Amino acid sequence: MTTTLRKGAAALALSIVLASQASAADPGAKNVILMIADGIGFNGWLAADYYQGLAGRQPYQITRPDGTVPVVLGQAHWSLNLVDAEGALLASGTSAALAAGAVEQGYDPGTRWARFESTFRNDFPPVGLPYTSYTDSAAAGTALHTGVKTTNAGINMDWTGTIRLRTIAEIAIDQGRSAGTVSSVQASHATPASVIAHNVSRDNYQTIFNEMVSSGLTVIMGTGHPFYDDSGRPIKPEADDAQAFRFLGGRETVAALRSDAGLNGFTFIDHKAAFEALAAGKRLPAKVVGVPRVRSTLQASRMGLADADTTSGMAFIDGVPDLATMSRGALNVLNQDPDGFFVMIEGGAVDWMGHANHMPRFIEEQVDFNAAVAAVVEWVEANSNWNETLLIVTADHETGGIWGADTFRNGTGGSVAADRSDEAVAAARFDPADDTFNRFVAVQDRGAGNIPAHQWASGNHTNELVPLWALGAGNGLFVQYARTDLEAAKLWGRPYGWKGGFVDNTAVFQVMNRVFAGKLVAAPAADPALTPAR
Ligand SMILES: [Zn+2]
Repeated sequence: MTTTLRKGAAALALSIVLASQASAADPGAKNVILMIADGIGFNGWLAADYYQGLAGRQPYQITRPDGTVPVVLGQAHWSLNLVDAEGALLASGTSAALAAGAVEQGYDPGTRWARFESTFRNDFPPVGLPYTSYTDSAAAGTALHTGVKTTNAGINMDWTGTIRLRTIAEIAIDQGRSAGTVSSVQASHATPASVIAHNVSRDNYQTIFNEMVSSGLTVIMGTGHPFYDDSGRPIKPEADDAQAFRFLGGRETVAALRSDAGLNGFTFIDHKAAFEALAAGKRLPAKVVGVPRVRSTLQASRMGLADADTTSGMAFIDGVPDLATMSRGALNVLNQDPDGFFVMIEGGAVDWMGHANHMPRFIEEQVDFNAAVAAVVEWVEANSNWNETLLIVTADHETGGIWGADTFRNGTGGSVAADRSDEAVAAARFDPADDTFNRFVAVQDRGAGNIPAHQWASGNHTNELVPLWALGAGNGLFVQYARTDLEAAKLWGRPYGWKGGFVDNTAVFQVMNRVFAGKLVAAPAADPALTPAR
């Protein structure tokens, strides 16, 4: 929220930003909305789009009624690897204090298409191969939000673990804008944490959440409710169960949030009806912490519910909002600030279902994310416009190594798991010791309502390119950062009209920073509130 004092400080900070980052010709944006489907590449994205019968026809993939045309690109997301004094790679997880430096993993089309397993090769023996062939959500979130690469697990800290990196949310707040975060997984999980927290390890959930509620954020929405289980059933944590509270900053923070006095001006909501009221724009609080009544994910981890006509065959939890409802509510709260806002909205459990190689629930999660993007597009066109708002829709990395059927011949497990046992799921993945790579094949469309033909090559993240769409103010800036992967375009380009241009994830920060600075260039030059002393 704007204060006279802050506006003065922001104007001074701005002149520094302008000198170093923005060119005078940059288009400006009042609002930036960054939407991240966690852990999904082109094949997974196509799988959900084919299932919906909307490949290339989702609202964010088509020309809007006002003529706004989305930019479609790929995105590379590699992280840094630590090395010793001889330049040898250190094992993932090694303390930065023991490293002599850090090197880039990189993404090179020539290397990628030379060998099937090049994007996930440390899945195989000798296990412990030091090379980190994929990023995690912490390093990717840091790059997206700060424009700086780091090693896995770091939240807005450089690879040495000593330098705090400034995020786009912090910049937006310093400029007088509001900022917020919305996720379908825990509010302090790596991706929402990377909006504003600073920590050498993503696992320090309690500290991270406490930093988030003490920051300038106006909206924090995500799961982690201590009094409900994964299926939304009420539970009472044991007296000594500190783990149950850690995602929301610990027992004391939870108690303060739920007290009449509240915490740091936040209104706490957890009832589905309260999220729906925000989505309808009713009785908007100045600041909100919204925690749906479920422990870990909105829907992905539910168990033991009735059979139903869903993709996975199990009924959804009734007592939680969907990501679209949370997103609408967040936008309504943030939009109370006349100076604009930044918000990150994450479909966080797409990744979890990718790790599990569970295609029906993976699709359910991506469909929920797509519905949230559709709701955001609708909100922008009703409450704002594409001249003042930039929407970026992308992923932070790929998960599961999803490919079309017959990409590889499986020597021991069959091309897809025969059942959901851990053994069957693991055996169906690619292992160069007993499986044979055939050729790169995209997932095959089997028509709307049918799961596309596919294989899972990995149980972990991969270094595969992910898609990126950008609509509205300043979206043309992305092409300034693009390189080309023509092989990737041959596989996935046609449904999306994608020609193979791809950017690094750090370009997402660069563009967001430039459009926020660009907007202020157009603002009145002489701000009477400017206080030179600051
Ligand atoms: Zn993951």
